[in-house]
Amino acid sequence: MGRPVEPLALVSGIDIVFFDAGETLLHPHPSFPELFARTVQNKGHDVSVKDATEVQLRLAPHLVELAEDTGVENPSLQPEDSLRFWSFLYRRLLKELGIEDEELVSALYATFSDISSYALFDDVLPALQRLESAGYRLGLISNFEGWLEEMLVELEIGHLFEVRIVSGAEGVEKPDPRIYELALERAGAEAQAAVHVGDSPAMDVEPAAAAGMRAVLLDRLGRYGDHPGTVISSLDQLARVVADLAREPLDPSVPSARPRGDSPARHRRRRR
Ligand SMILES: [Mg+2]
Repeated sequence: MGRPVEPLALVSGIDIVFFDAGETLLHPHPSFPELFARTVQNKGHDVSVKDATEVQLRLAPHLVELAEDTGVENPSLQPEDSLRFWSFLYRRLLKELGIEDEELVSALYATFSDISSYALFDDVLPALQRLESAGYRLGLISNFEGWLEEMLVELEIGHLFEVRIVSGAEGVEKPDPRIYELALERAGAEAQAAVHVGDSPAMDVEPAAAAGMRAVLLDRLGRYGDHPGTVISSLDQLARVVADLAREPLDPSVPSARPRGDSPARHRRRRR
């Protein structure tokens, strides 16, 4: 299924395209604030979608320190850590709304652990099908609890990914480069013949590039105007970008992160 390697004709070949899951392929549906407000309303509290949106926006800039305050480093690796991490964040959001209600914290955790609360972005299926029919293999690298596997099947895209690396099942989370190395190993792919697409510079782009992969930032909301690397705003643009990357000459002065041969085609492009 993989594209044949033609080191002389193609200066560099791309064999496999990996994807992040959350906010890249799928999202809370209809949206985080709507699900949040609905759950809170069901427990008898008067909170509108607008209130939930405002609180989310207010806390968003502090997400990194809030995550630290949970005391949980790798929330997707253990069910009890996932529960503790997300409960802390929901409790904090509720506190901003003047609500203290532990039952509601549990209800929110249940809402956002429910497969029916998620949907694919509209551009996902066409993009995956276009890449697949162009001969690329597809893979997944996600920080998620193990139930992502089930959700991918439910969303009818699980079968499209030849390699699925879900942190909760593998015991290692992004941005640890080992999760990228594991994906390459599982795929039997050279780093420079692999692309990783994700919505986070810190979790997706930087560690994937550090592992020697080509990285594409999916910036759906235009948040990273000054990002120095390859950026797309929709997966509709991905097939073209991957084709461009496949044609781009690799910089032979940059040693491969996974040295497995000396052909110039095996050296990766300089990181941008
Ligand atoms: Mg993501």
